[in-house]
Amino acid sequence: MSEDKTKAVKALQGVKGMNDMLPTDAPLWDMFESAARSMLRAYGYQQIRTPIVEHTQLFVRGIGEVTDIVEKEMYSFTDSLNGENLTLRPEGTAAAVRSTIEHNLLYDGPKRLWYIGPMFRHERPQRGRYRQFHQLGAEALGFAGPDVDAEIILMCQRLWDDLGLTNVRLELNSLGQAHERAAHREQLIKYLEGFQDILDEDSKRRLYTNPLRVLDTKNPALQEMAANAPKLIDFLGEESLAHFEGVQRILLANNIPFKINPRLVRGLDYYNLTVFEWITDKLGAQGTIAGGGRYDPLIQQMGGKPAPACGWAMGIERIIELIREENLVPDTQGCDVYMVHQGELANQQAMIAAERLRDAGLDVVLHATPDGKSGSFKSQMKRADASGASFAVIIGDDEIAAGTVQVKQLRGGNVAEGGQQTTVPAEQVVEFIIDAMVDEIEGDDEQ
Ligand code: ATP
Ligand code: MG
Repeated sequence: MSEDKTKAVKALQGVKGMNDMLPTDAPLWDMFESAARSMLRAYGYQQIRTPIVEHTQLFVRGIGEVTDIVEKEMYSFTDSLNGENLTLRPEGTAAAVRSTIEHNLLYDGPKRLWYIGPMFRHERPQRGRYRQFHQLGAEALGFAGPDVDAEIILMCQRLWDDLGLTNVRLELNSLGQAHERAAHREQLIKYLEGFQDILDEDSKRRLYTNPLRVLDTKNPALQEMAANAPKLIDFLGEESLAHFEGVQRILLANNIPFKINPRLVRGLDYYNLTVFEWITDKLGAQGTIAGGGRYDPLIQQMGGKPAPACGWAMGIERIIELIREENLVPDTQGCDVYMVHQGELANQQAMIAAERLRDAGLDVVLHATPDGKSGSFKSQMKRADASGASFAVIIGDDEIAAGTVQVKQLRGGNVAEGGQQTTVPAEQVVEFIIDAMVDEIEGDDEQ
């Protein structure tokens, strides 16, 4: 390509509301993901991966026609090659259930599943609310008892503990069963009709389609009206109440504090009985970091054999931001060894030594430059230092002639005294560095 052509190209930008995860953020995401994986393993959960694109109908059926997501947040399109109506997944449960039914995963008993990945919702981008965001989700499929509702809540608490998050609280409610919601709905609509003059557009729209969602309103002018509305919990029968009390008993026995919020409804249609949210006050308006509950009707509604189920999903971006907010960001770790070299033979030897160090399990970065020339030792040592490496291995003409390398410790023990540079026979470099690392660890232990 000629010089002029490169100059003429205008750089493109990413899609609004869809973020890049930059290398500086990677340690944070890694920390979250590895804590999540070990927590999920500790509870016997197995991973499932489903495609990012599904038939639009899956979400319409699975999430419900009168939910925010299906009404206005879905990225839907027609496949121009075959005319299929497809949607970028806005959440994970519908697809996990679809896959479970399609592959008959419940044939030999209930399943505990988890997933992680990007979700897409066409919302107004703001802090904690993006158009592509990431969720970690867990679904316990085929279990009916309140013990599993409680277990999935304990899982979240364990993850917060592992991550060091303390500023999160649990809110709990029960949505009962369909017939109980129907009785409540009748009373609720009557009550809401009395406030026609103050209801906002959203609430008017939901009055007859999804009146429970009206109670979920964030509009300050409607708070008093919502607070005094008939409470679903007063319409629950014995069985629903027993289930709810069962969940609460287990949480109390495990020292998990919670608050019952009679107005907690969740945005998706498929929930029954237990619903919950984990909320923090540290993130402004978008303070819900996880939400979930029981959705017993869903599997049958999607065409599977009836089976109870519950689960949760958490918003990873919000959790990452909370980790930052609480200063729990992990120290970024550099590599173990940086290879400094000058001359063609030295370059070759450096690459061979690097491979042997990697065979021994060490992380090694080879010095390389935009112009393909290695540059002065001084400039290379600057790079070595900036890389965060614990050691530099230095190879030049003298070392090639003598069959040696120089090893310089850049961090730890004796660096304060100017660091130590040692001439080491080339074939002993792996052993030397590993010994030095062991000494370093033992030295730390003695302190
Ligand atoms: P909200 O009330 O904030 O819109 P929701 O009820 O739509 O949340 P869920 O569908 O329950 O959210 O998703 C579970 C979690 O995923 C939320 O608690 C939140 O942490 C996260 N989440 C949802 N939508 C977004 C988004 N647009 N951007 C970032 N995170 C999100
Ligand atoms: Mg939402």
